[in-house]
Amino acid sequence: MTDKIPFKTEMAFAYGEAAEMVPGVRRLVANNPGPFTFKGTNTYLVGQKTLTVIDPGPADGAHLAAILEAANGRPIATIVITHTHKDHVEGLAALQAATGAKSAGFGRTAPLISGGNDPTPTGSEFVFPDFAPDIVIRHGDRIEDIDHALVALHTPGHAPDHLCFALEGFPAAALFSGDHVMAWNTSVVAPPEGHMAAYLASLELLIGRSETVYLPGHGGRLADPQRMVRAFLLHRRWREQAILAAIRSGHDGSPTAVGTSTTIRKIVPVVYPELDAHLLTAATLSVQAHVEHLMERGLVSTTDPVPSSGPWDRALTAA
Ligand SMILES: [Zn+2]
Repeated sequence: MTDKIPFKTEMAFAYGEAAEMVPGVRRLVANNPGPFTFKGTNTYLVGQKTLTVIDPGPADGAHLAAILEAANGRPIATIVITHTHKDHVEGLAALQAATGAKSAGFGRTAPLISGGNDPTPTGSEFVFPDFAPDIVIRHGDRIEDIDHALVALHTPGHAPDHLCFALEGFPAAALFSGDHVMAWNTSVVAPPEGHMAAYLASLELLIGRSETVYLPGHGGRLADPQRMVRAFLLHRRWREQAILAAIRSGHDGSPTAVGTSTTIRKIVPVVYPELDAHLLTAATLSVQAHVEHLMERGLVSTTDPVPSSGPWDRALTAA
């Protein structure tokens, strides 16, 4: 089995310039590129007479000005949040102040469990805990405007409050997929913010849906989304099998170490042999998410107690 995913890493755009993605939807890319944000966070403007904004993006005066310029005097009624990570929501207050729009999102239902200051999408550095939506959105809720409507899909996994939005009212069937499904990379699933079982269920939720284009939180649009969703599911199954095999053999990647106990930290170089150093923490937490999913199903156990939050690295045994 292979874990090759047909990633699309080229993206035609210019910061500050709105580009039409499907009829009635325009995209602006914020200038906050990075290892987790690719070229930057995407902000979408939906509608023709009055607008819905999806993800205001980071707190950035130039990005705010670009959103207002793209709106071109049309009222922004609602600002919808896909999930409460800073790169998506930190610009909300300024955009609300400029437009009077209402905010809408799932909202955080549990206090932030600090992942420390590690540069991963799990710690306090990434999560914006103070978001309290004016309109609380749950799975299946509709946000209606004059010429369009969005239907929310609760898709936890990358973040517990993550929502995707299906667009109604335009000829092209599109899904705003946030950081759940993207073309340029896999979604980061890192505990305690991320949860592997929830992420896989949220991928299964998309199988068989009719949308032909996904508009993600980072990177270009996905033109063949069902193929990508299936590829992501296969990729995670493949990785889980590799991790389970490493635990079964007591393997730490060196031939002399077979039979010794395995830990999450020892598994990382086995399943990520060509890892960039700056992604080590994210990769370690991704392995932890898989191990926790295996433990939830009784396939792996650890003799030592596991802390309720944060990274851990106990000796693992396969059932
Ligand atoms: Zn993001």
